[in-house]
Amino acid sequence: MEKYLREEIKSLVAYEVIDRDYKVKLDANEGIEWIKGLNRYPGDRSDELREELAEQLGRNKDEILLGNGSSELIELVMKAYLEAGETVASFSPTFSMYRNFTIMHKGKYVGYPLENMKKLNVDGFVEFVHEEKAKIVILTNPNNPTGLLIPKEDIVKIIKSVDAMVILDEAYIEFSDGPQNETMEEFENLIILRTFSKAMSLAGIRLGYMVSNEKNIEYINRVRSPFNVNMLTQEMGLKALKNRETTSKNIEIIKKERERMREFLQGKGIEPFSSAANFLFFTTSKEIFHALEDSAVLIKGFSGELEGYYRLTIGTPEENNSVIKVIEEVQNKNNEYK
Ligand SMILES: *Cc1c(COP(=O)(O)O)cnc(C)c1O
Repeated sequence: MEKYLREEIKSLVAYEVIDRDYKVKLDANEGIEWIKGLNRYPGDRSDELREELAEQLGRNKDEILLGNGSSELIELVMKAYLEAGETVASFSPTFSMYRNFTIMHKGKYVGYPLENMKKLNVDGFVEFVHEEKAKIVILTNPNNPTGLLIPKEDIVKIIKSVDAMVILDEAYIEFSDGPQNETMEEFENLIILRTFSKAMSLAGIRLGYMVSNEKNIEYINRVRSPFNVNMLTQEMGLKALKNRETTSKNIEIIKKERERMREFLQGKGIEPFSSAANFLFFTTSKEIFHALEDSAVLIKGFSGELEGYYRLTIGTPEENNSVIKVIEEVQNKNNEYK
């Protein structure tokens, strides 16, 4: 929305690359080809990939912007909208990079505590955003690291009630139940972020996308570096979109495994938070964490306010069995000494 745009960006013109047909291309200082096609710059706006995404999402390609991971897109929103000293609000705990990006962009970051880390007090949050006069609000749904899914009515209420740009980070939405495009409707101040890193299993190619109205996309495109999504990534992204069945199958495996791991942990007296993502969040003993570490099974341990909390990513059935085996060994050993 122009209302929230940084003053300097209001008159900034996006760098424009015009694709023209050619016989001989000597206009971009590119080198001599030695790996097929890679001496050329990629298509600047990834048109083919945006068109395919637009079709699958039921949107228009000018409502989509691609980034080098959704991380880059979070930064682009800040570059376009956040003046030095202005505030970014999210909840706590959440994805730690929001704070880092805010600080890098000279903003002030504030986090609103989730109730027992398990519930968002929507009215309290809206009031908090007003009091802090936040310019950008980031909602992570489902949340990382807790796995909390905020109901759609609450998300809509926040978008409508705050006087700010809202980033809805849906990095894990594919692992939740229900229609995946339901938050795609238009609100002037809403920017939705999605990624190929989690449910699409392509963290290595660094690809994320933003969905918003054409105006917001045009504003944010002004601060995007030219050619930000490389040619190999565009190609792999397109391939993944045309092979949705593999992704759907993997998501079903992860959801089933998530419930199997939940039941296993509960049986061992560990109570994971309810999770709509591809991970479980829980508190347990350091002994279990270290036993896993000693077996070279890595899970994420937190520090500071989240000391004693852990996040287990749901892997393949075999990988999850490795976790089960270590935890069972710890418990058997403890029983022997009782
Ligand atoms: C993993 C994650 C991302 C994705 O980052 P990419 O840059 O797309 O890999 C974004 N937001 C949250 C909350 C995440 O957990």
